[in-house]
Amino acid sequence: EPDATLSHLDVSKLTVTLTESPKALSAPETLRFGATFTDHMAVATFDPSTGWSDPVIKPYGPLSLDPASSCLQYSSNCFEGMKAYLGPDGKARLFRPELNMRRLERSAERLALPPFDSNAILELIKRLVQVEKRWIPSLQGYSLYIRPTIIGTRPALGVTASDHAMLYVLTSPCGPYFPQGLRAVSLLAISDNVRAWPGGTGGHKVSGNYSPGFLPQRIAGKQGYDQVLWLFGEEKRVTEAGAMNFFVVVKRDDGNGHDFITAPLDGTILPGVTRASCLALTRDPAFLEAASLNLHPIERAYTIHDLVQWSAQGKLVEALCIGTAAIVASVNKIGYEGKNITLPEYEAGLGPVGMALRQKILGIQEGRDEYERWSVV
Ligand code: PMP
Repeated sequence: EPDATLSHLDVSKLTVTLTESPKALSAPETLRFGATFTDHMAVATFDPSTGWSDPVIKPYGPLSLDPASSCLQYSSNCFEGMKAYLGPDGKARLFRPELNMRRLERSAERLALPPFDSNAILELIKRLVQVEKRWIPSLQGYSLYIRPTIIGTRPALGVTASDHAMLYVLTSPCGPYFPQGLRAVSLLAISDNVRAWPGGTGGHKVSGNYSPGFLPQRIAGKQGYDQVLWLFGEEKRVTEAGAMNFFVVVKRDDGNGHDFITAPLDGTILPGVTRASCLALTRDPAFLEAASLNLHPIERAYTIHDLVQWSAQGKLVEALCIGTAAIVASVNKIGYEGKNITLPEYEAGLGPVGMALRQKILGIQEGRDEYERWSVV
Protein backbone atom coordinates (compact mmCIF):
# COMPACT_ATOMS: atom_id res chain seq x y z
CA GLU A 1 0.00 0.00 0.00
CA PRO A 2 1.59 3.30 -1.08
CA ASP A 3 2.11 6.01 1.50
CA ALA A 4 -0.40 8.76 0.62
CA THR A 5 1.79 11.40 2.27
CA LEU A 6 4.24 10.89 -0.61
CA SER A 7 1.71 12.19 -3.17
CA HIS A 8 3.00 15.75 -2.85
CA LEU A 9 4.54 17.14 -6.03
CA ASP A 10 6.00 20.56 -5.35
CA VAL A 11 5.71 22.74 -8.46
CA SER A 12 7.20 25.71 -6.56
CA LYS A 13 10.48 23.76 -6.81
CA LEU A 14 10.23 23.51 -10.61
CA THR A 15 13.48 23.94 -12.54
CA VAL A 16 13.21 25.12 -16.15
CA THR A 17 16.13 24.41 -18.46
CA LEU A 18 15.53 25.91 -21.87
CA THR A 19 16.93 24.38 -25.03
CA GLU A 20 19.88 26.06 -26.67
CA SER A 21 18.62 25.08 -30.11
CA PRO A 22 14.91 25.86 -30.43
CA LYS A 23 13.36 24.25 -33.49
CA ALA A 24 11.90 26.25 -36.33
CA LEU A 25 8.11 26.14 -36.38
CA SER A 26 6.71 24.14 -39.26
CA ALA A 27 3.93 25.52 -41.45
CA PRO A 28 0.67 24.71 -39.63
CA GLU A 29 -0.85 23.11 -42.74
CA THR A 30 1.88 20.45 -42.76
CA LEU A 31 1.21 19.22 -39.20
CA ARG A 32 0.11 15.61 -38.87
CA PHE A 33 -1.60 14.70 -35.58
CA GLY A 34 0.92 13.83 -32.87
CA ALA A 35 3.94 13.79 -35.17
CA THR A 36 5.65 17.08 -34.25
CA PHE A 37 6.82 17.75 -30.72
CA THR A 38 7.76 21.05 -29.13
CA ASP A 39 11.18 21.95 -27.69
CA HIS A 40 10.55 20.91 -24.09
CA MET A 41 8.87 18.34 -21.87
CA ALA A 42 7.99 18.24 -18.18
CA VAL A 43 9.26 15.34 -16.06
CA ALA A 44 9.00 14.17 -12.43
CA THR A 45 9.81 10.80 -10.93
CA PHE A 46 8.43 8.90 -7.95
CA ASP A 47 10.56 6.86 -5.59
CA PRO A 48 8.85 4.88 -2.80
CA SER A 49 11.21 6.19 -0.13
CA THR A 50 11.29 9.87 -1.10
CA GLY A 51 8.08 10.45 -3.04
CA TRP A 52 7.91 12.75 -6.06
CA SER A 53 11.07 14.49 -7.20
CA ASP A 54 11.08 18.22 -7.84
CA PRO A 55 9.66 18.56 -11.35
CA VAL A 56 11.71 19.81 -14.28
CA ILE A 57 10.95 21.30 -17.65
CA LYS A 58 13.83 20.42 -19.93
CA PRO A 59 14.65 19.98 -23.61
CA TYR A 60 12.58 17.28 -25.34
CA GLY A 61 14.57 14.08 -25.68
CA PRO A 62 14.84 10.34 -25.02
CA LEU A 63 14.13 8.83 -21.60
CA SER A 64 16.48 6.40 -19.93
CA LEU A 65 14.67 3.36 -18.51
CA ASP A 66 15.71 0.06 -17.01
CA PRO A 67 14.67 -2.61 -19.55
CA ALA A 68 12.91 -4.51 -16.75
CA SER A 69 10.68 -1.51 -16.05
CA SER A 70 7.13 -2.45 -15.15
CA CYS A 71 5.68 -0.27 -17.95
CA LEU A 72 7.64 -2.15 -20.62
CA GLN A 73 6.72 -5.58 -19.28
CA TYR A 74 3.21 -5.15 -17.87
CA SER A 75 1.87 -1.98 -19.49
CA SER A 76 1.51 -0.14 -16.18
CA ASN A 77 0.93 3.10 -18.08
CA CYS A 78 -1.85 5.62 -18.31
CA PHE A 79 -2.17 8.93 -20.07
CA GLU A 80 -4.39 11.88 -20.88
CA GLY A 81 -5.20 13.82 -24.02
CA MET A 82 -6.09 17.49 -23.82
CA LYS A 83 -5.49 20.66 -25.80
CA ALA A 84 -4.39 24.26 -25.29
CA TYR A 85 -6.00 26.81 -27.61
CA LEU A 86 -4.96 30.35 -28.39
CA GLY A 87 -7.78 32.84 -27.95
CA PRO A 88 -8.38 36.03 -29.91
CA ASP A 89 -6.74 37.81 -26.95
CA GLY A 90 -3.52 35.86 -27.56
CA LYS A 91 -3.88 33.92 -24.29
CA ALA A 92 -3.55 30.14 -24.07
CA ARG A 93 -6.55 28.27 -22.66
CA LEU A 94 -7.25 24.75 -21.44
CA PHE A 95 -10.71 23.19 -21.78
CA ARG A 96 -12.10 21.73 -18.51
CA PRO A 97 -8.63 20.42 -17.54
CA GLU A 98 -9.79 19.38 -14.06
CA LEU A 99 -11.82 16.61 -15.73
CA ASN A 100 -8.68 15.24 -17.40
CA MET A 101 -6.83 15.43 -14.08
CA ARG A 102 -9.54 13.51 -12.24
CA ARG A 103 -9.56 10.88 -14.99
CA LEU A 104 -5.75 10.61 -14.76
CA GLU A 105 -6.06 10.05 -11.00
CA ARG A 106 -8.60 7.27 -11.54
CA SER A 107 -6.52 5.64 -14.29
CA ALA A 108 -3.39 5.62 -12.11
CA GLU A 109 -5.37 4.25 -9.18
CA ARG A 110 -6.75 1.43 -11.37
CA LEU A 111 -3.17 0.40 -12.20
CA ALA A 112 -2.05 0.70 -8.55
CA LEU A 113 0.49 3.35 -9.57
CA PRO A 114 1.86 5.69 -6.89
CA PRO A 115 -0.46 8.50 -5.68
CA PHE A 116 -0.11 12.09 -6.84
CA ASP A 117 -1.74 15.46 -6.41
CA SER A 118 -3.37 16.18 -9.76
CA ASN A 119 -3.68 19.91 -8.95
CA ALA A 120 0.11 19.99 -8.97
CA ILE A 121 0.22 18.16 -12.30
CA LEU A 122 -2.21 20.69 -13.75
CA GLU A 123 -0.01 23.52 -12.49
CA LEU A 124 3.00 21.84 -14.12
CA ILE A 125 1.07 21.52 -17.41
CA LYS A 126 0.18 25.21 -17.28
CA ARG A 127 3.87 26.10 -16.82
CA LEU A 128 4.83 23.89 -19.76
CA VAL A 129 2.14 25.44 -22.00
CA GLN A 130 3.45 28.89 -21.04
CA VAL A 131 7.00 27.85 -22.03
CA GLU A 132 5.74 26.39 -25.34
CA LYS A 133 3.22 29.09 -26.17
CA ARG A 134 4.93 30.06 -29.43
CA TRP A 135 4.05 26.56 -30.71
CA ILE A 136 0.28 27.08 -30.54
CA PRO A 137 -0.70 28.00 -34.09
CA SER A 138 -2.82 31.17 -34.10
CA LEU A 139 -5.19 29.74 -36.69
CA GLN A 140 -8.75 28.72 -35.97
CA GLY A 141 -9.08 24.98 -35.45
CA TYR A 142 -5.41 24.62 -34.48
CA SER A 143 -4.17 23.87 -30.98
CA LEU A 144 -1.42 22.37 -28.86
CA TYR A 145 -2.19 18.74 -28.00
CA ILE A 146 -0.99 17.83 -24.49
CA ARG A 147 -0.12 14.28 -23.52
CA PRO A 148 0.47 13.80 -19.76
CA THR A 149 1.77 10.26 -19.25
CA ILE A 150 2.51 8.20 -16.14
CA ILE A 151 4.57 5.04 -16.47
CA GLY A 152 5.45 2.41 -13.89
CA THR A 153 9.24 2.23 -13.59
CA ARG A 154 9.71 -0.48 -10.96
CA PRO A 155 12.92 -2.13 -12.23
CA ALA A 156 12.05 -5.78 -11.47
CA LEU A 157 10.10 -8.59 -13.11
CA GLY A 158 7.82 -9.48 -10.19
CA VAL A 159 4.21 -9.34 -11.36
CA THR A 160 3.14 -6.67 -8.91
CA ALA A 161 2.22 -3.00 -8.59
CA SER A 162 4.92 -0.59 -9.69
CA ASP A 163 6.14 1.34 -6.66
CA HIS A 164 8.31 3.56 -8.89
CA ALA A 165 6.89 5.86 -11.53
CA MET A 166 7.69 8.61 -13.96
CA LEU A 167 5.37 11.40 -15.01
CA TYR A 168 6.10 13.20 -18.23
CA VAL A 169 4.16 15.68 -20.29
CA LEU A 170 4.62 16.04 -24.05
CA THR A 171 3.13 18.79 -26.19
CA SER A 172 2.48 18.61 -29.91
CA PRO A 173 1.07 21.33 -32.18
CA CYS A 174 -1.83 20.04 -34.21
CA GLY A 175 -4.29 21.14 -36.84
CA PRO A 176 -7.92 20.26 -37.45
CA TYR A 177 -8.63 16.54 -37.42
CA PHE A 178 -10.00 16.82 -40.94
CA PRO A 179 -7.65 19.24 -42.74
CA GLN A 180 -9.78 19.33 -45.92
CA GLY A 181 -12.77 20.61 -43.94
CA LEU A 182 -15.42 18.55 -42.20
CA ARG A 183 -15.76 15.08 -43.58
CA ALA A 184 -18.09 12.31 -42.50
CA VAL A 185 -16.45 9.09 -41.26
CA SER A 186 -17.46 5.50 -41.96
CA LEU A 187 -17.50 2.83 -39.24
CA LEU A 188 -17.25 -0.96 -39.32
CA ALA A 189 -19.20 -2.53 -36.43
CA ILE A 190 -17.08 -5.26 -34.84
CA SER A 191 -18.16 -7.74 -32.18
CA ASP A 192 -15.67 -10.62 -32.40
CA ASN A 193 -12.99 -8.39 -30.90
CA VAL A 194 -14.19 -6.38 -27.92
CA ARG A 195 -12.63 -3.17 -26.65
CA ALA A 196 -13.90 -3.35 -23.09
CA TRP A 197 -16.02 -5.50 -20.79
CA PRO A 198 -17.70 -5.14 -17.38
CA GLY A 199 -15.10 -5.13 -14.63
CA GLY A 200 -12.32 -4.43 -17.12
CA THR A 201 -10.46 -1.19 -17.72
CA GLY A 202 -12.52 0.36 -20.53
CA GLY A 203 -13.69 3.16 -18.24
CA HIS A 204 -10.09 4.21 -17.61
CA LYS A 205 -7.53 5.75 -19.91
CA VAL A 206 -4.91 3.05 -19.48
CA SER A 207 -2.45 2.32 -22.29
CA GLY A 208 -3.24 -1.39 -22.36
CA ASN A 209 -6.72 -0.59 -23.72
CA TYR A 210 -5.36 0.68 -27.00
CA SER A 211 -2.93 -1.74 -28.66
CA PRO A 212 -5.52 -4.59 -28.85
CA GLY A 213 -7.57 -2.24 -31.02
CA PHE A 214 -4.88 -1.85 -33.68
CA LEU A 215 -5.65 -5.12 -35.50
CA PRO A 216 -9.43 -4.56 -35.70
CA GLN A 217 -8.68 -0.99 -36.86
CA ARG A 218 -6.47 -2.40 -39.61
CA ILE A 219 -9.23 -4.86 -40.63
CA ALA A 220 -11.73 -2.00 -40.82
CA GLY A 221 -9.27 0.03 -42.90
CA LYS A 222 -8.73 -2.84 -45.34
CA GLN A 223 -12.50 -3.01 -45.86
CA GLY A 224 -12.56 0.70 -46.62
CA TYR A 225 -13.89 1.98 -43.29
CA ASP A 226 -12.30 4.79 -41.29
CA GLN A 227 -12.87 3.48 -37.77
CA VAL A 228 -14.23 0.59 -35.73
CA LEU A 229 -17.64 0.76 -34.02
CA TRP A 230 -17.11 -1.36 -30.92
CA LEU A 231 -20.01 -3.66 -30.01
CA PHE A 232 -20.31 -5.63 -26.78
CA GLY A 233 -22.01 -8.80 -25.65
CA GLU A 234 -24.66 -11.18 -26.97
CA GLU A 235 -27.04 -8.30 -27.55
CA LYS A 236 -24.36 -6.42 -29.50
CA ARG A 237 -24.58 -3.20 -27.56
CA VAL A 238 -23.14 -0.14 -29.24
CA THR A 239 -20.32 1.28 -27.09
CA GLU A 240 -17.70 3.57 -28.67
CA ALA A 241 -16.19 4.38 -32.06
CA GLY A 242 -12.40 4.10 -32.42
CA ALA A 243 -11.07 6.18 -29.52
CA MET A 244 -14.16 8.38 -29.42
CA ASN A 245 -17.52 8.35 -27.70
CA PHE A 246 -20.54 7.72 -29.91
CA PHE A 247 -23.98 9.37 -29.99
CA VAL A 248 -27.03 8.96 -32.21
CA VAL A 249 -29.87 11.38 -32.94
CA VAL A 250 -33.18 9.51 -33.27
CA LYS A 251 -36.56 10.97 -34.20
CA ARG A 252 -39.08 10.40 -31.40
CA ASP A 253 -42.35 8.58 -31.96
CA ASP A 254 -44.32 11.22 -30.04
CA GLY A 255 -43.28 13.93 -32.51
CA ASN A 256 -41.55 15.89 -29.74
CA GLY A 257 -38.13 16.40 -31.33
CA HIS A 258 -35.27 13.91 -31.17
CA ASP A 259 -33.58 11.68 -28.61
CA PHE A 260 -29.81 12.16 -28.29
CA ILE A 261 -28.60 8.77 -27.15
CA THR A 262 -25.24 7.52 -25.89
CA ALA A 263 -24.21 4.44 -23.92
CA PRO A 264 -24.11 4.82 -20.10
CA LEU A 265 -20.85 4.88 -18.09
CA ASP A 266 -21.09 1.24 -17.01
CA GLY A 267 -17.34 0.66 -16.91
CA THR A 268 -17.03 -0.22 -20.62
CA ILE A 269 -17.17 3.40 -21.80
CA LEU A 270 -14.42 5.97 -21.40
CA PRO A 271 -15.90 9.00 -19.61
CA GLY A 272 -14.93 11.50 -22.30
CA VAL A 273 -14.60 15.18 -21.48
CA THR A 274 -16.26 15.99 -24.81
CA ARG A 275 -19.04 13.45 -24.07
CA ALA A 276 -19.72 15.06 -20.68
CA SER A 277 -19.72 18.50 -22.32
CA CYS A 278 -22.17 17.45 -25.06
CA LEU A 279 -24.51 15.98 -22.43
CA ALA A 280 -24.27 19.10 -20.26
CA LEU A 281 -24.95 21.39 -23.23
CA THR A 282 -27.94 19.40 -24.47
CA ARG A 283 -29.36 19.41 -20.92
CA ASP A 284 -29.16 23.20 -20.89
CA PRO A 285 -32.41 24.77 -22.19
CA ALA A 286 -30.54 27.99 -23.05
CA PHE A 287 -28.16 26.14 -25.39
CA LEU A 288 -31.01 24.19 -27.01
CA GLU A 289 -33.02 27.33 -27.55
CA ALA A 290 -30.11 29.31 -28.99
CA ALA A 291 -29.35 26.42 -31.36
CA SER A 292 -33.04 25.87 -32.21
CA LEU A 293 -32.84 22.23 -31.15
CA ASN A 294 -35.52 20.09 -29.51
CA LEU A 295 -33.30 17.38 -28.12
CA HIS A 296 -33.64 14.88 -25.26
CA PRO A 297 -30.24 13.63 -24.07
CA ILE A 298 -30.37 10.03 -22.81
CA GLU A 299 -27.65 7.76 -21.44
CA ARG A 300 -28.87 4.24 -22.03
CA ALA A 301 -27.90 0.88 -23.48
CA TYR A 302 -28.85 0.32 -27.14
CA THR A 303 -27.78 -2.22 -29.71
CA ILE A 304 -26.71 -2.46 -33.34
CA HIS A 305 -30.16 -4.03 -33.97
CA ASP A 306 -31.75 -0.81 -32.69
CA LEU A 307 -29.62 1.16 -35.17
CA VAL A 308 -30.66 -1.15 -38.03
CA GLN A 309 -34.33 -0.72 -37.06
CA TRP A 310 -34.19 3.06 -36.51
CA SER A 311 -32.45 3.43 -39.84
CA ALA A 312 -35.09 1.29 -41.63
CA GLN A 313 -37.82 3.43 -40.05
CA GLY A 314 -36.11 6.62 -41.23
CA LYS A 315 -35.61 7.77 -37.65
CA LEU A 316 -31.80 7.70 -37.50
CA VAL A 317 -30.86 11.22 -38.58
CA GLU A 318 -27.31 11.70 -37.20
CA ALA A 319 -24.56 9.55 -35.71
CA LEU A 320 -21.64 11.39 -34.10
CA CYS A 321 -18.12 10.47 -32.98
CA ILE A 322 -17.09 12.74 -30.14
CA GLY A 323 -13.69 13.33 -28.55
CA THR A 324 -10.85 15.79 -27.98
CA ALA A 325 -9.09 15.14 -31.30
CA ALA A 326 -12.03 15.45 -33.73
CA ILE A 327 -14.39 17.33 -31.34
CA VAL A 328 -17.49 16.20 -33.30
CA ALA A 329 -17.45 14.15 -36.50
CA SER A 330 -20.49 12.79 -38.28
CA VAL A 331 -20.87 9.23 -39.52
CA ASN A 332 -22.14 8.50 -43.04
CA LYS A 333 -22.32 4.70 -42.88
CA ILE A 334 -21.90 1.79 -40.49
CA GLY A 335 -20.93 -1.59 -41.92
CA TYR A 336 -22.50 -4.54 -40.10
CA GLU A 337 -22.60 -8.17 -41.25
CA GLY A 338 -21.90 -7.35 -44.89
CA LYS A 339 -24.47 -4.55 -45.18
CA ASN A 340 -24.31 -0.82 -44.57
CA ILE A 341 -26.53 1.26 -42.35
CA THR A 342 -26.48 4.55 -44.24
CA LEU A 343 -27.05 7.94 -42.69
CA PRO A 344 -28.20 11.19 -44.23
CA GLU A 345 -25.38 13.23 -45.77
CA TYR A 346 -25.23 16.89 -44.86
CA GLU A 347 -23.72 19.45 -47.16
CA ALA A 348 -21.93 21.20 -44.28
CA GLY A 349 -20.33 17.85 -43.30
CA LEU A 350 -22.37 17.74 -40.06
CA GLY A 351 -26.09 17.64 -39.35
CA PRO A 352 -27.82 20.28 -37.21
CA VAL A 353 -27.02 18.63 -33.86
CA GLY A 354 -23.38 17.89 -34.69
CA MET A 355 -22.84 21.37 -36.09
CA ALA A 356 -24.41 23.18 -33.13
CA LEU A 357 -22.32 21.19 -30.64
CA ARG A 358 -19.12 21.59 -32.62
CA GLN A 359 -19.51 25.36 -33.03
CA LYS A 360 -20.40 25.85 -29.38
CA ILE A 361 -17.51 23.74 -28.06
CA LEU A 362 -14.95 25.28 -30.44
CA GLY A 363 -16.11 28.76 -29.42
CA ILE A 364 -15.63 27.89 -25.75
CA GLN A 365 -12.25 26.24 -26.35
CA GLU A 366 -10.95 29.19 -28.35
CA GLY A 367 -12.07 31.68 -25.70
CA ARG A 368 -14.76 33.34 -27.82
CA ASP A 369 -17.50 32.01 -25.51
CA GLU A 370 -17.24 32.18 -21.68
CA TYR A 371 -19.80 29.39 -21.17
CA GLU A 372 -19.68 28.06 -17.59
CA ARG A 373 -16.00 29.07 -17.39
CA TRP A 374 -15.15 25.77 -19.06
CA SER A 375 -12.02 27.32 -20.57
CA VAL A 376 -9.28 28.41 -18.21
CA VAL A 377 -6.47 30.82 -19.11
N1 PMP B 1 -13.16 6.97 -25.86
C1 PMP B 1 -11.88 6.57 -25.87
C2 PMP B 1 -11.59 5.11 -25.84
C3 PMP B 1 -10.84 7.51 -25.92
O1 PMP B 1 -9.56 7.11 -25.92
C4 PMP B 1 -11.17 8.88 -25.95
C5 PMP B 1 -10.08 9.92 -26.03
N2 PMP B 1 -9.63 10.26 -24.73
C6 PMP B 1 -12.52 9.26 -25.91
C7 PMP B 1 -13.49 8.27 -25.87
C8 PMP B 1 -12.94 10.71 -25.90
O2 PMP B 1 -12.60 11.31 -24.67
P1 PMP B 1 -12.29 12.87 -24.58
O3 PMP B 1 -13.53 13.57 -24.99
O4 PMP B 1 -11.95 13.10 -23.16
O5 PMP B 1 -11.17 13.14 -25.52
